[in-house]
Amino acid sequence: MLDSYGRTIDYLRLSVTERCQLRCAYCMPEGPCRTGDDAALCSLDELTELAAACVALGVKKIRLTGGEPLLRAELLPLIERLRALPGLEELALTTNGQRLAELAAPLRAAGLDRLNVSLDTLRPARYRALTRGGELDRVFAGIAAAEAAGFRDLRLNAVLLKGVNDDELAELAGLARTRPWSVRFIELMPIGPGAAMPEAFLPADAVLEAVPELRELQNAKGSFQREATEDGGTDPSTSLRSAQDDRPRGVARLYTAPGWAGTVGLIAPMSACFCAACSRIRITADGRLKPCLHSSEEYPLRGLHGDDLKAAILAAVQRKPARHHLSGSNASESARPMNEIGG
Ligand code: SAM
Ligand code: SF4
Repeated sequence: MLDSYGRTIDYLRLSVTERCQLRCAYCMPEGPCRTGDDAALCSLDELTELAAACVALGVKKIRLTGGEPLLRAELLPLIERLRALPGLEELALTTNGQRLAELAAPLRAAGLDRLNVSLDTLRPARYRALTRGGELDRVFAGIAAAEAAGFRDLRLNAVLLKGVNDDELAELAGLARTRPWSVRFIELMPIGPGAAMPEAFLPADAVLEAVPELRELQNAKGSFQREATEDGGTDPSTSLRSAQDDRPRGVARLYTAPGWAGTVGLIAPMSACFCAACSRIRITADGRLKPCLHSSEEYPLRGLHGDDLKAAILAAVQRKPARHHLSGSNASESARPMNEIGG
């Protein structure tokens, strides 16, 4: 699929639940919040039909997310069905790791290709406080189980948080020193509770200051990323198309150091907007297509089938905006917090 700016759209992030057993301070409010009952959200059949239509239209990679996807009943049969879709090249999942120890082997057996595990701190008490109840031991037991089950190239995602984990950047990055993991640092985005934490924003380059031996592995062509946000004068379709063509796929700038087994990734939606290279669409657990994480635009797909469903997906892709408008003072225009979208 091509959007109206000529970007190839081949990556679907499919949310399977809004529920989560954690309450990360930047993602979900501490008190009661709206988390739809899974029974009222898309069924296994509906999720499969939505994903199949996207794959038929050219999606090559699906990432299952949430909320916490490992809480979703029937996740394993869903993975089996999605893995069987002709044309799907990669099926991945992002998890907080709390239930991964018991589920890693079944996930692998069902056909899951890749795992991202969220891990913002290596200090148990800090992890418990930030996630409001999470157990760090469980995350590491989950990572060990994932490796034992045959998952390779594990990605560990840490949100950069000034005053919370900025004293751990070298330690977190250092996980890639001896293990073949990709430790990815993500800038805090002003969405959901994260929008009320401007003081916690830490630019991704702080990682390079904390770990000076890191060297860029893949040239992410930062010049055209800046070009895409600053070139108000040129034809956006031309600049966006050339940006996506030039740029290595993926949103992370990758680094490593001599002798390290793994890599460090920097994902900087705020300080180095990568919208020009965006290849993503998102479908929420209640079946609404979001062409952009940070736009309020959503297109309901539930109840549509066959050619009508495909036409609705193609029309929504055409409405994908050129870029987000986030800044220190501009919060996300998305009407939903991250647990309802999936990141
Ligand atoms: N529960 C799973 C997990 O935590 O990995 C999957 C869903 S979670 C919404 C997906 C990712 O979004 C996590 O890595 C989380 O850290 C990230 N995230 C949530 N809110 C964010 C925010 N305001 N800014 C940046 N990343 C955020
Ligand atoms: Fe749950 Fe993931 Fe949000 Fe944390 S980031 S509250 S684990 S959905």
